[in-house]
Amino acid sequence: MKTLVVALSKDNQPISATYELISAARSLGDDIITAVLATDADKPAADLVSRGAGKVLAVSNPALGFFNEEIYAKVIAELIGKHSPGLVLGPATFYGRALFGRLAGLIGGTMTSEVTGIAVEGDRLVMTRPCYGGSVIAKVGSKAADKPYFVTVRPKIFPESTEGDGEVVSETVADSCFESRVTVTESAGGGTGEVNLAEADIIVSAGRGIRGAEHVQLVKDLADSLGAAVGSSRAVVDADWIAYSTQVGQTGRTVNPKLYIAVGISGAIQHLVGMRSSQYIVAINKDKDAPIFNVASYGIVGDLFEVVPALTKKFKAELG
Ligand SMILES: Cc1cc2nc3c(=O)[nH]c(=O)nc-3n(C[C@H](O)[C@H](O)[C@H](O)COP(=O)(O)OP(=O)(O)OC[C@H]3O[C@@H](n4cnc5c(N)ncnc54)[C@H](O)[C@@H]3O)c2cc1C
Repeated sequence: MKTLVVALSKDNQPISATYELISAARSLGDDIITAVLATDADKPAADLVSRGAGKVLAVSNPALGFFNEEIYAKVIAELIGKHSPGLVLGPATFYGRALFGRLAGLIGGTMTSEVTGIAVEGDRLVMTRPCYGGSVIAKVGSKAADKPYFVTVRPKIFPESTEGDGEVVSETVADSCFESRVTVTESAGGGTGEVNLAEADIIVSAGRGIRGAEHVQLVKDLADSLGAAVGSSRAVVDADWIAYSTQVGQTGRTVNPKLYIAVGISGAIQHLVGMRSSQYIVAINKDKDAPIFNVASYGIVGDLFEVVPALTKKFKAELG
């Protein structure tokens, strides 16, 4: 089956989830095409080829500088019409989710979101996806159809594809694809140097135990010392100490880093569903009976106001 990978980019560089999608596509076979949309798509396209993205369809246009789901959906829909993939893969990130819902609506194919496994079983494509906060693992199947199957894949599940080959093909699409009722003039948030939560290998999360907005910096300093992203519990977001975009859990993000450090977080089920699949979990809590310790690989029972600065100092000294 021909698979189209939709490569989303940031600052003209494919996001790391794109390399994971290439691995996911390659696990199904070699018939892969990848679409990359940018102001000047040649650079990200060359990078994708070196990661084994197959035939890379590069669409360049000034209107593609910022993500605009209306424009992106029209361009991808036109590429789908030209190349007829059976499966279209994208990342289950904010932008990926927005784009794929719109695309499936525009074209009329089947859609499965937040997938954690893909396989071919007989004549069916079978997707694995967690439901009800991970307490049920569903297998969703689809037979070959005349419309493509749209799938968003959860980041940090598949390994990044690091090598391979392919070719860059410059694509042109109809001018009408670049017309939109919305003009995106600026992309704010996630400032330079900040690590994106969905793509982070390490996350340090703040809970209500930090006691106030003035102590968020304590957690940020620990995150900086490890090159980590900053996450949070909902209690901290509801108290307006930190932005909602950092919230991990049932009504926030689902994350899957190699290391998750929970600082002053009790471990309510609504938080756990968003982070318990992390490879290693370290919990810092002064209450030895806090439920977070039930899922932690390592636990530090102590006052975070002593433990966190000591860890930050140690990591800075050891890691530079
Ligand atoms: C429908 C619904 C959806 C929800 N969605 C989410 C979600 O997406 N994400 C989420 O996180 N929550 C969510 N919640 C809220 C959730 O139930 C909890 O209320 C929340 O996770 C608690 O956050 P917390 O662990 O930071 O705070 P608390 O439960 O108040 O825990 C604070 C912890 O800090 C420890 N502590 C205090 N002082 C110190 C110190 N000096 N040193 C060390 N440790 C200390 C305490 O021992 C305690 O364990 C949701 C709730 C509902 C009903």
